[in-house]
Amino acid sequence: MKAVQYRSVGAAPEVVTVPRPEPAPGQVLLKVTAAGVCHSDIAVMSWSAQELTFPLPLTLGHEGAGTVAALGEGVTGFEVGDSVAVYGPWGCGACAMCAQGKENYCTRAADLGIRPPGLGAPGAIAEYMIVDDARHLVPLDGLDPVTAVPLTDAGLTPYHAIKTSLPKLTPGSTAVVIGTGGLGHVAIQLLRALTPARVIALDVTDGKLRLAHQVGAHETVLSDEHAAAKVRELTGGLGAQAVFDFVGAQPTVATATACAAVEADVTIVGIGGGTASVGFGSTPYDAAVRAPYWGSRAELIEVLDLARSGAIDVHVETYALDDAPKAYEHLHDGRINGRAVILP
Ligand code: NAD
Ligand code: ZN
Ligand code: ZN
Repeated sequence: MKAVQYRSVGAAPEVVTVPRPEPAPGQVLLKVTAAGVCHSDIAVMSWSAQELTFPLPLTLGHEGAGTVAALGEGVTGFEVGDSVAVYGPWGCGACAMCAQGKENYCTRAADLGIRPPGLGAPGAIAEYMIVDDARHLVPLDGLDPVTAVPLTDAGLTPYHAIKTSLPKLTPGSTAVVIGTGGLGHVAIQLLRALTPARVIALDVTDGKLRLAHQVGAHETVLSDEHAAAKVRELTGGLGAQAVFDFVGAQPTVATATACAAVEADVTIVGIGGGTASVGFGSTPYDAAVRAPYWGSRAELIEVLDLARSGAIDVHVETYALDDAPKAYEHLHDGRINGRAVILP
């Protein structure tokens, strides 16, 4: 079968032919129907050999959807042909975090060598993929795999981030979204669907801000050194009750904390390497800074339910499997509007 692999440190991803995998007992083989392309892969492909925490070659893709092609021995609850989404942050299934469905915070995954598909285990940008356990599948139940597949990360990650801050997002409040790409353009829609907050979106190009506006942002602001002052101006000097940074670079983290109101939540989702300085007098009273990772199994079910209600319209740009390396290039160059989705 064809697969798109990151094969050696610093090299561009390549389309290669690899053996079609067979599901071991307990596993499920999916024929991939759609796979999303996330900016985290670009970060992973920029790491040095020392920073890389898993061996290469790696089949890329941690957003996956497919139809069940074969069930390993002992698997129940799914039939061949079922259309499913893959929950990506695989955990051990047994620790206290996993028992709550928070496999993204599994306390044993690292020790046990359990890694998400596309981030250590073979990923979804291939004709077929192995899912380690049927509990990591969620039925699509009528959702189109092409527009639903980004919900497994570009939907789930902002959903998890926003859910924690819902009590802050009361009528009259403001939420700021920094970086309105794959994750950010879904975050705006989640904020609009789940809260009465006014949403201010920041990005670096007019094209991205147009999409932000189109998907529901009330205000858009160019992300530069004046952005925090503009947010303060738009909020009568108070700042925002919740700020979500989907870039996470030093300038955006600085903007994020500078936008914060008293008692605000500042959530750094992007992995751009920036750090926030928090301290009495340097951040507003009682502001909190968090850096969450992905989301829980229950939250993925909730995000898919929300999509089924019609509240989320993921903007996708589709590519054939052979063109996946081009999709990564376009994402790297900031040329994707919404999410790039590979159709094997
Ligand atoms: P993306 O490339 O689709 O979107 C990033 C957006 O940020 C683009 O629209 C880009 O124009 C914009 N941007 C770049 N520099 C900016 C700046 N200085 N100010 C404002 N906007 C700026 O990326 P994505 O796939 O949505 O991922 C977003 C980030 O989230 C990445 O860092 C990714 O690695 C990270 N991520 C984190 C988690 C997690 O669990 N914490 C999960 C998924 C992705
Ligand atoms: Zn991702
Ligand atoms: Zn666990």
